[in-house]
Amino acid sequence: MKFHIVTIFPEFFRGPFEHGVVQKACEAGRIEIHVHDLRTWTHDRHRTVDDRPFGGAEGMLMKAGPIFEAVEAIWPERGPGKRPEPDAGKRIALLSAQGRKYDQRLARQYSGLDELLLICGRYEGVDERVAEHLSDDEISIGDYVLSGGELAAAVVVDSVARLVEGVLGNQTSVVDESFGEAGLLDWPQYTRPAEFRGWKAPDVLLGGNHEEILKWRRNAAREKTARLRPDLLTG
Ligand code: SAM
Repeated sequence: MKFHIVTIFPEFFRGPFEHGVVQKACEAGRIEIHVHDLRTWTHDRHRTVDDRPFGGAEGMLMKAGPIFEAVEAIWPERGPGKRPEPDAGKRIALLSAQGRKYDQRLARQYSGLDELLLICGRYEGVDERVAEHLSDDEISIGDYVLSGGELAAAVVVDSVARLVEGVLGNQTSVVDESFGEAGLLDWPQYTRPAEFRGWKAPDVLLGGNHEEILKWRRNAAREKTARLRPDLLTG
């Protein structure tokens, strides 16, 4: 799967993808991450990507022009006025505090794509015509305001990449983990030592009875979900 990230801070992404699962997936050729400098698609001496909002308001807005040109250069088939087929295997997501809440379900959908293009906003956000006429999705990683879409894009790439087929060695781990098939949080896990500072790991996990362990894990996952995320049980 290919990821494209359109940003005014391409150097931001030097760190986040150079570790662990994502780095290994890139090295193995399971995923590709292409970071594009939005200023490539500006046409003035100052490489301007922002301007003042109409109607008067604090701060600056990212202009639509360079963003449309960036997408049309990366995917020429999305030239002016060309909307994609819904099943085309490619999606454009605009990172935005106003977007639909990003979750594991959407991560799973994205992991089945051939290519995902992420647009990172900055300043006071992005000219609304990008959401209206260019992006397929407008997504938020949570109900708080970040200063830019880059952190959010890194979150999306990481969470999607690990679901791409062949990226994690043991595919059952994505079924059993939080927000997996059961729709619960993961069960509590313990490792050695069996007793740490007087706190013991549950005896059942040390006993070797797999049926009992499974039963304990199911109950513990449900109990933890009810305590920390009751919305997952009702919704
Ligand atoms: N004025 C905007 C608002 O109130 O909704 C906030 C703009 S924010 C300072 C700048 C950029 O950060 C946004 O365009 C978006 O790309 C990104 N951003 C901020 N919060 C985000 C969130 N919760 N999820 C995804 N992206 C976010």
